[in-house]
Amino acid sequence: MNISGPFLIAIVLIFFLVLVFANHMSSSKIKVWLLLLFRPYKDAEFREIGANLEKHNSFYRNLSEAGKVRMIEKCFEFIYSKSLEGREELEVTEEMHVAIAGTAAQISFGFNTSGFSHYKTIRIFPESFYSKMFDRYLKGGASTSGVLFLSWKDFMEGFADEKDKYNLGLHEMAHALRIQLKYGNDFDKRFANYVDVWEEIALPEFTRLQNGESSFLRPYAATNIEEFFAVCVEHFFEAAEDFQKQLPDIFNHLCFLLNLNPLNKSNDFKLDQDFIESVNNDPSRISFPDKVKKNYKYDTNHWSFYYILIGIFAGLTYVYHASEWYLYNDYFIICFIVTVIAIVAGFRKYFYSKGIFLVRHLMLFSLLGVAMPALAIVLFLDQQFVVETRVLNTKVIDYSIVKDPRNKALVYEYRVDNQYLMSHPKVLKFQAFGLELADKEFLSLDMELSTGIMGLTRVSGRKIIYRKSDTPQQMP
Ligand SMILES: [Zn+2]
Repeated sequence: MNISGPFLIAIVLIFFLVLVFANHMSSSKIKVWLLLLFRPYKDAEFREIGANLEKHNSFYRNLSEAGKVRMIEKCFEFIYSKSLEGREELEVTEEMHVAIAGTAAQISFGFNTSGFSHYKTIRIFPESFYSKMFDRYLKGGASTSGVLFLSWKDFMEGFADEKDKYNLGLHEMAHALRIQLKYGNDFDKRFANYVDVWEEIALPEFTRLQNGESSFLRPYAATNIEEFFAVCVEHFFEAAEDFQKQLPDIFNHLCFLLNLNPLNKSNDFKLDQDFIESVNNDPSRISFPDKVKKNYKYDTNHWSFYYILIGIFAGLTYVYHASEWYLYNDYFIICFIVTVIAIVAGFRKYFYSKGIFLVRHLMLFSLLGVAMPALAIVLFLDQQFVVETRVLNTKVIDYSIVKDPRNKALVYEYRVDNQYLMSHPKVLKFQAFGLELADKEFLSLDMELSTGIMGLTRVSGRKIIYRKSDTPQQMP
């Protein structure tokens, strides 16, 4: 192997490490981390955020001192990682920034992460605005491309009455949380793992709503499951007691999903053990799981990713090097790879259930994650278990020997009087170490060919027969 081989592998490795790292750390996160490091210099700003939250957010007002600090930190992170844009001549103020950050901090209060890294821009309109896409006026929206839209008038109305079960800020943040699962990477693990379970629990009520039956939730929740979730979040914070009475399972498991209990005012809305036990001890209620099962659907670091890495670093490299001594033709490799891809793709439903969704992801997985390592294993087994060995003597028509000064090797390249070998030019070019450049002409080349258990043939040894020498030189 020459120098460029390991160099190329190193570049690919570094590229993948950067990819994995960037996946875990978004630039805004680094920025916030640095800002929090210099927190002592930010005390005035923290106080200002606190004062603003005190004014707008009753959730904040009910928190203990420690809880308030946690909420301010969450707001701080939100404020510094999003840019606010006023539309239709609306002037954006610090108060707006904090009020919006407050809704994000409230819904994600039980999470370890802010959960909104996918959202970088928030566009604020003075009041409801026209959307070309929906061809109607909207009060708010959360786009899949990472932009939140809000009508300021309606946002403030949501906070004017905190018991009317209307809160635009919380509604849009609820949408953002779920969109973030599909398009972002910094989301709460429990939320990602449990959201489908919650949906299943909520499904009967959603179906009832869709059938036009009356519900504790407002009819708009029947629009689709996304709106259903967003409306549930509004009711969850603004009418927690009634919600629990009317739809206890949906409420309880929403507490579990968001890791907070809006009824636990005396203890920072924590989801405490007493609550969990009281639900689990009630046979008429759906109990909480001991352990939340991993849901691969929203996982950015999918296990198939590691197979792909192994395929690239172990499989591809081994197959590439084996091609220097194997007499297989390209059709064999193509047929093998196509077969493996077809088999893997045939199990699409199974992979779907295991969380592999995208077709290109599945193809990459089957090609690099399965076909390459499988081919490497086949070659390895073939090499280990030799069935037959024979020697093929060929007349040398033409040759060249070059001294490679970099790794002190001789590079031999032949043309021989044998169609079979000539159709595999790779095996006729090889490097030999520790040999002196011979000053003699040679006559022929003895190729030792071995056929392994898999029926593949490879060059297992070479012998050069010189014209003026009786002792042939053994080659590697
Ligand atoms: Zn909505």
